[in-house]
Amino acid sequence: MAFLGCIADDFTGATDLANNLVREGMRCVQVIGVPTLETVVGPNANADIAQADAIVVALKSRTTPVAEAVAESRAALAVLQQAGCQRFFFKYCSTFDSTPEGNIGPVAEALLDDLQADFAIAAPAFPVTGRIVEDGILWVNGVPLNESGMQHHPLTPMTDANLVRWLGAQSQSEVGLIDAHTIDDGVEAVRERAADLQSIDVRLAIVDTLNADHLDTLGQAFADAALITGGSGIALGLPAAYEQHGDIQRRPNAGQLEAFGGHCAIVSGSCSTQTQAQVAAFAAEHPALALDPLALANDFDQAVDAALEWALPKLAAGPVLVYSTDAPEAVAAAQAQLGNAQAGELVESALARISQGLVDAGVRRLMVAGGETSGAVVSALGVDWLRIGPQIDPGVPWTSTQISRLSDNESPVALALALKSGNFGDTDFFTRATWSSS
Ligand code: ADP
Repeated sequence: MAFLGCIADDFTGATDLANNLVREGMRCVQVIGVPTLETVVGPNANADIAQADAIVVALKSRTTPVAEAVAESRAALAVLQQAGCQRFFFKYCSTFDSTPEGNIGPVAEALLDDLQADFAIAAPAFPVTGRIVEDGILWVNGVPLNESGMQHHPLTPMTDANLVRWLGAQSQSEVGLIDAHTIDDGVEAVRERAADLQSIDVRLAIVDTLNADHLDTLGQAFADAALITGGSGIALGLPAAYEQHGDIQRRPNAGQLEAFGGHCAIVSGSCSTQTQAQVAAFAAEHPALALDPLALANDFDQAVDAALEWALPKLAAGPVLVYSTDAPEAVAAAQAQLGNAQAGELVESALARISQGLVDAGVRRLMVAGGETSGAVVSALGVDWLRIGPQIDPGVPWTSTQISRLSDNESPVALALALKSGNFGDTDFFTRATWSSS
């Protein structure tokens, strides 16, 4: 039965958190959307979920209206509680992506209410990725958050790096700070500071975090807290702390997946600089087919069928790549002809349909590049959950799942998926697609 129940406000953030928990020895399943109770508990529970130490529910609640984000998060919490989880984690981005209205403060306070808990830390920092908090100010690679580019984010412009003030504006109760000096003084000092804050009715406190030692101290200090809120960094210290408290036993092979045979393929809809390099590196040595958005607009079915006719005969000989990845000028040209939204939608639907065709033809290891592209593919394949496996590159693990194929009344199909957002992964990321955990 899972010990830790997590609620993440977006899909790739959920994977990032799950990946860190697995690396620290907790077996982990990521569920897409609020699961039904029957999926997580009882005789018909999914076997992978039933054996997980941590369940991460991936929501899309970062930018939805406050009331919706609160309602979805509470629904997820209720299922996780019924599944037997004893500690809870609310995961958001390490750049604290939110608006002055929410959703981090309102969701955290609603979860505290439902857990009948008084206090939770807010710990976004992840020092190894350049995000630190000092005196309550969030720094991104040496510059304050509001000068890092995040001030221009289309949906969650972060115009203030002072997180005590920012979270305070979203929260009903006052927001406090546990500063770096207190954390340097150790676990007891941190607990005393938390108790002092609670005595003046502070329910949420930003925690300074300058280095990995601070994350460990915070993990130790709050291992018995009902709720922790933060980025995926704070999760690195938690499994060891839970083990020291006798709550879990960490597993050396938490990320081990069964062996996957079958064919291997890659679909790429990301146009990030790193993905462009990965596509070029793969295409230099393996079969790769570029999709043309204008051809898709002209005759969608014909273009999708042609891509599959190209790909399927090659699968037996090794991995193939189908991509729409292109340089900014080419993307801009397609967008000028088709409109931004329509170009994106066409490409996403095409890659989703091609993924279905590849799986129907026996692909059992599928890599997908692009956050939105991954969402489209996962939804077209009917993927509800992912067991988190070994890390390929930081933040990107192999995962496994089972899907029911409509064209196939037999038992569900086991599939290994690697879902990579934009700039993640080394240049040779795709060439490692041939992985099989035998
Ligand atoms: P990333 O993780 O790099 O942001 P996404 O998949 O989230 O990647 O977003 C890339 C977007 O660009 C998708 O909506 C995709 O459909 C769109 N896109 C991909 N290739 C092209 C192209 N050649 N022309 C226009 N739009 C494209």
